[in-house]
Amino acid sequence: MLQKNDRRQGKTVLVAGGAGFLGSHLSDMLLSHGHRVISVDNFLTGSLENVAPLRNHPAFRLIEHDICEPLTVPENVDQIYNLACAASPPNYQADPIHTMMTSVRGTGHLLQLAEEKGASLLQASTSEVYGDPEQHPQREDYWGHVNCTGPRACYDEGKRAAEALCFDYLRLGRADVRIARIFNTYGPRMQPDDGRIVSNLIVQALQGRELTVYGTGEQTRSFCYVSDLIRGLAALMNVEENPCVPVNLGNPQEFTIAELAERVRAELPGSGEIVYRPLPKDDPRRRRPDISRARELLNWAPEVSLAEGLRLTIDWFEKTLPAPSPVLKP
Ligand code: NAD
Ligand code: UDP
Repeated sequence: MLQKNDRRQGKTVLVAGGAGFLGSHLSDMLLSHGHRVISVDNFLTGSLENVAPLRNHPAFRLIEHDICEPLTVPENVDQIYNLACAASPPNYQADPIHTMMTSVRGTGHLLQLAEEKGASLLQASTSEVYGDPEQHPQREDYWGHVNCTGPRACYDEGKRAAEALCFDYLRLGRADVRIARIFNTYGPRMQPDDGRIVSNLIVQALQGRELTVYGTGEQTRSFCYVSDLIRGLAALMNVEENPCVPVNLGNPQEFTIAELAERVRAELPGSGEIVYRPLPKDDPRRRRPDISRARELLNWAPEVSLAEGLRLTIDWFEKTLPAPSPVLKP
């Protein structure tokens, strides 16, 4: 049964998906606050580079493991963040069955571990649980509009099933579970070939290539800078009283994809023209979080504007992106 976590300052925290974009930033933050981190990753979409600076940290341990398989660790664990799951549409659709199993079987294994250790578990859910929403902005009490047989279902239905499993563990008193519904988040350490919009546009622009906009570009998203999101995840995990409801975390400022492409072009004038490509099936037409619940329960709101966050992300890609190979003339 659920045990009370102790309230020592230095906790032992397991981060599944710890070598990914969000997981590596979260690990940095946890270590800087004096916690011990066990990072678990199968390196599907994450990279060793993301955690390279942490490898020699005495409070950091890295386990290469696929959470679709059961997981045991010898340590006492106070908290588990489940961030393990490919997050970009091309990546999660590359092996859709594994994506679904990661959310269902993988989350199940981490819930078992949470129960065994008496640890709190934070599940990284997603705005995709709202599908192509008919309500705007999206509040947590909206049940969503999701195509359960489409190509995105491996991800959004997987995450919905994971939420269901989490709430069963919570209702049965078997684990202290918290659910963050994360909206589009960007920043340094996104993989350059990840396929998501912010990294795609910046990498294309830095390489002087055309900027790809899918569909008309009138679809909207709301972009949260990574430091804001990590602060929100930690606030939800550590809030004294478990809210026992999902909490949206994202930046409520909404932009069309065409606007975003224009902003990137304005920042990087060497970029090519905007070109329009077919819209992927079931691509949500609009998305914006209602973050009243996060404001109220966690006293959380994003602080980094899109202009500032884009600048920081561009600076990072400028430093880390390998120079494009020269175009060979015939
Ligand atoms: P990411 O792809 O960079 O990170 C995911 C990490 O999980 C990678 O390191 C990957 O190797 C690992 N992983 C995948 N399947 C695994 C498995 N079966 N076993 C072990 N490790 C596995 O993506 P991210 O943007 O850092 O996303 C992290 C989490 O947050 C994901 O669960 C994602 O669904 C969720 N999320 C992210 C966003 C966003 O905008 N970044 C939005 C909504 C939800
Ligand atoms: N998109 C785009 N060009 C790209 C990549 C994505 O126009 O090169 C669009 C995509 O169709 C979607 C939006 O940008 O409408 C956000 O896509 P992303 O994959 O980043 O996130 P998600 O669709 O999961 O919100």
